[in-house]
Amino acid sequence: MIDEHCIFCKIIQGIIPSKKYFENDKFLAFFDINPIATNHVVFIAKNHYENLNEMPDGEWQQFMIEGRNVAEKLVKEINADGYNLMINQGRAADSLVNHRPHMHIIPRFFNDNIKIDPRN
Ligand SMILES: [Zn+2]
Repeated sequence: MIDEHCIFCKIIQGIIPSKKYFENDKFLAFFDINPIATNHVVFIAKNHYENLNEMPDGEWQQFMIEGRNVAEKLVKEINADGYNLMINQGRAADSLVNHRPHMHIIPRFFNDNIKIDPRN
């Protein structure tokens, strides 16, 4: 399921270049083009859904498990102290790309002074 107007679908297809961090047959993680932290990654399913509740439950479970595993790997590699996982639904929640769910993986360090405000 691909939406030809979706920038994340274009990233999946390689039409828009990205710096990939992780990829398998179902999911992709790439570095955010407007990072709010070092190694801020966006984790997405390769299937395009407009809304969170359109993703089947089994795929949602895989998404959450794989996203957590990607976050753990990423954080260990850079010795971060923690991480935020953020999923936004709808424009009112600042979710501007209609490819959902997409999860921001934001590595965190003590005293990094980051205010969480993802905008894509
Ligand atoms: Zn898409």
